[in-house]
Amino acid sequence: MENLWAPWRMTYILDEDKPEGCIFCLAGDGKGADDLVLGVGEHSLVMMNKYPYNNGHLLVAPRRHLPGLDQLSPEEMADLLATVRLSVQALREIMHPEGFNVGLNLGRVAGAGIEEHMHFHVVPRWGGDTNFMTVFGEVRVIPEHIRATYENLRPYFADLK
Ligand SMILES: [Zn+2]
Repeated sequence: MENLWAPWRMTYILDEDKPEGCIFCLAGDGKGADDLVLGVGEHSLVMMNKYPYNNGHLLVAPRRHLPGLDQLSPEEMADLLATVRLSVQALREIMHPEGFNVGLNLGRVAGAGIEEHMHFHVVPRWGGDTNFMTVFGEVRVIPEHIRATYENLRPYFADLK
């Protein structure tokens, strides 16, 4: 498996130095990695997942640093879901997936990688890709595909408010 070209098992390894602090808060403050953050609005933001399950795997988070759904105001919730919908629409137009996984992992035991700041996963799916919950091995794949996807997606989030 080491050398298999497997876009559904990507490990995005552009930098080795991890930023200090919460990646979603950094993105919201304009300090996120330029090649990950797609758009920042008043209440929500969208970024590429650095460790995607599939090419096009997006993360949609509220701007506020909150662990769960129940702390969101109605306005934030509505904005967050609208941004999830926008993400699905953009991915559908650009990547023509056959389906999506959209979901939340709340809490470490539920699989949350960053449990302190809640975020939706939006993952495009194609027949023949692999199971959503596949555990990543040491497979490292060329990140150009993710960069190309980023460039294609970015215009869709230019007007995020
Ligand atoms: Zn945060």
